[in-house]
Amino acid sequence: KEERSYMENSRKPFAIYQFIDKRVVTLVLSAGFCDLFGYDSYAKAYYDMDNDMYKETHPDDAARIADAAFRFATEDGKYDVIYRSLNKQGDGYRIIHAKGEHYYTDTGVRLAQVWYTDEGCYSADDNKTSSFTHSLANALCEESFIKATYYDHLTGLPSMTYFFELADIKRRQIKSNGGRPALLYMDLSGMKYFNHKYGFAEGDTLLQCFARTLAETFGNESCSRLGQDHFAAVVQTSGLNSELETLFDKCRRINEGRSLSVHVGVYQHWYDGIAASMACDRAKFACDTLRHLYSSGYSYYNLSMKDEEEKQRYIISNLDKALSEGWITAYYQPIVRAVNGRVCDEEALARWIAPEKGMLSPADFIPILEDHKLIYKLDLYMVDCIIKKIGILRDAGLHLIPQSVNLSRSDFDTCDIVEEICRRVDAAGISHDMLNVEITESIIGQDFEFMKEQINRFRERGFAVWMDDFGSGYSSLDVLQSIDFDLIKFDMRFMQKLNEGNTGKIILSELMKMATFLGIDTVCEGVETPEQVQFLQETGCSKLQGYYFQKPIPVEGILQKYEKGIQIGFENPEESDYYDTVGRINLHDLSFIAQGVKGGLDNYFNILPMAVIEIYDGQVRFARTNQSYREFMDRYFAFKVNDKQETYHDKPKDAAEIFIKTLVRSSETGDTMYVDETLPDSSIVHSCLRRLAVNRCSGKIAVAVAVLSIVKDETGTTYANIARALAADYVNLFYVDLEDESFIEYSSIAGDDELALERHGKSFFEASRKDALKLIHKDDRERFIKAFTKENILSEIDRCGTFVYSYRLLKDDVPVLVNMKAVRMQHDRKHIIIGVRNNESDN
Ligand code: C2E
Ligand code: MG
Ligand code: MG
Repeated sequence: KEERSYMENSRKPFAIYQFIDKRVVTLVLSAGFCDLFGYDSYAKAYYDMDNDMYKETHPDDAARIADAAFRFATEDGKYDVIYRSLNKQGDGYRIIHAKGEHYYTDTGVRLAQVWYTDEGCYSADDNKTSSFTHSLANALCEESFIKATYYDHLTGLPSMTYFFELADIKRRQIKSNGGRPALLYMDLSGMKYFNHKYGFAEGDTLLQCFARTLAETFGNESCSRLGQDHFAAVVQTSGLNSELETLFDKCRRINEGRSLSVHVGVYQHWYDGIAASMACDRAKFACDTLRHLYSSGYSYYNLSMKDEEEKQRYIISNLDKALSEGWITAYYQPIVRAVNGRVCDEEALARWIAPEKGMLSPADFIPILEDHKLIYKLDLYMVDCIIKKIGILRDAGLHLIPQSVNLSRSDFDTCDIVEEICRRVDAAGISHDMLNVEITESIIGQDFEFMKEQINRFRERGFAVWMDDFGSGYSSLDVLQSIDFDLIKFDMRFMQKLNEGNTGKIILSELMKMATFLGIDTVCEGVETPEQVQFLQETGCSKLQGYYFQKPIPVEGILQKYEKGIQIGFENPEESDYYDTVGRINLHDLSFIAQGVKGGLDNYFNILPMAVIEIYDGQVRFARTNQSYREFMDRYFAFKVNDKQETYHDKPKDAAEIFIKTLVRSSETGDTMYVDETLPDSSIVHSCLRRLAVNRCSGKIAVAVAVLSIVKDETGTTYANIARALAADYVNLFYVDLEDESFIEYSSIAGDDELALERHGKSFFEASRKDALKLIHKDDRERFIKAFTKENILSEIDRCGTFVYSYRLLKDDVPVLVNMKAVRMQHDRKHIIIGVRNNESDN
């Protein structure tokens, strides 16, 4: 006691330490020491030295001197270090020179005495310092590079191995004091992203701030930076929760608020037999369960985690065996084309059938294999399975359709997955378009540019890349905007939400429309009910997958089903393009049919009756219809459009005749056509038809039909009505907008009373005068050009009701005399209609 008070009163800055339980413990601090380091009470000084010895030390020096102190304590020799310590005002650093020696007490205890000298102010700015401190500062920089082994160089916390030794002792101490020890594993959530956003220097600063906070809370020697952004600490279990809450609160404010949330896994009930490293693994396990939590939080290791951990260990240690013994196999689920109900792709899904344990679902083993970066083994194995399967189906004489394989993020890190897959597929002599690569949207968010490049590499080599589970993450639209996919697979949750009010339907339908505009195919997975199938068929979803059609089965199952004749047939790959096109249009969306119809559809309803009709060999089949089309057919024609869509038109009735004729013509010419049908109640149905695609294999032709209006008023003179009446007589009809001079030109097909829409144009009058140079007999040209102005025509019409004009038109260089007549539309002062009539055929 006497000796201590004598020493404490000394004005010389020094300290006496003893090495107990593998750590440096402070015995005595002198008054000079307290003065030098700015302490006004001994208690505070002792507390800091025991708990956070390097609190005031420059972060770049802390690890080095901690390490030197540790060596000095455990080995013989001298202690001689220079470092920077925060000055009393806290606004800069002083250079401290510390020298130490060992000596033994009468009782044989080895103590260390360390003397401290203030070498002056530290400044990184050369001009301000004397040459002496300057050289010290230089020495400092050099020393800083010496790698510390016991202490982490960045944070000054004990490094992992040393920490495990310290932790064991601390655990025993807590226990012998009647407490319950626990080990914490801590993870800063989103460190990668933080580095990416602010840079590595800023990331390091955050790690240092966090380490300081930990040292303050639990004591420097009770904590560790295990590596990267992972930390650990040994603590008392009692009062831990509130201590953690305080820690989270502090962490929010460190580094001027530029911080991250903290995930903490707690391993309590720490028995004697459990080594610190094992305790740390378990705490990490608990911490990992917080992976999806965005805020700070903690999780206690419990018994169910123990089971999980055992399962994890089983999976990891048995993977190679499971692959070589064939415990893991591929099951295949068909993906069915919405328009023809045939299987157009299949997805390979991994199944692990473990001896004794039974079937493990992918949810059990995929995340574990992903975490341990072993999934590439499984995924390449699945590619091998697919290659074998293609051989089996080929031998069985079945159509070969593309097979989907699922890839995980770490596949791209652990190997060059693009090359690996290429090599396997090429060695088997299989064409690249036989393999689709499914990548979930969530994995793309991480390291975007890299993933984009990999996806492009797959696509350049001819593999289709599908975005799996679209809508399950947060970055879906972002990703779509910057990466080209061949297909979007909508996550199962869309199907689950489909019946919750209208919102689900609207969102899915609009997303489908978006995909169509982007020229991307779509699949919905998790289709389980006929109602879902019908909705998806209407919205133009290209392909469907789900238990409604079939659960995943092994390849033997597929063959058996084929033998029994109960397998859904495979699509002929040569017809795939045709069905791609037919399947894609959204029957809830007018824009397809509206292409090229200027201003024409604005006045019509939003959801029109729409259908896709297939024409083949004089027969007609409704390939796809929407709900309003089915209602329309039922109401006006008492015709039930069959759900199976196998119904053929019987002999056309009178009204239908015009329609069928137009339909056939549109299928042959590819022109957009309009048709008016008179219904039994004498109202008029005005429809638009347009060819979609031709199936080169079967000769089937698909035509899209939209019912644009149903006019009840018998006297209602729709434009099409007048035009049709006139059509037989006229060579050309022009419908001209007087305001902007745009026009639509219709040509009739000689002898028929329907119209084929020909073209749209601008600047009608000017264009006509230009055309006159080519199309009108040279003797009539000048006169025509002079007469054919808007002003002239309108003043004539206003004077005598019509504008009439005769001239010779050149048809294949032969002059034909024609009459032109222009009238205003009856109720529409904005438009005129101009007819050009062949005068000679009349005679
Ligand atoms: P995924 O790629 O989205 O696969 C679709 C999952 O939905 C499959 O589950 C499938 O069996 C299931 N499913 C299909 N139709 C329905 C349905 O109508 N209702 C319901 N409730 N479920 C349906 P599974 O086979 O359990 O696979 C789960 C996930 O595991 C897959 O999701 C995929 O991401 C992953 N996975 C499976 N096999 C592999 C593989 O070989 N490699 C990789 N990397 N991941 C795989
Ligand atoms: Mg998938
Ligand atoms: Mg999926």
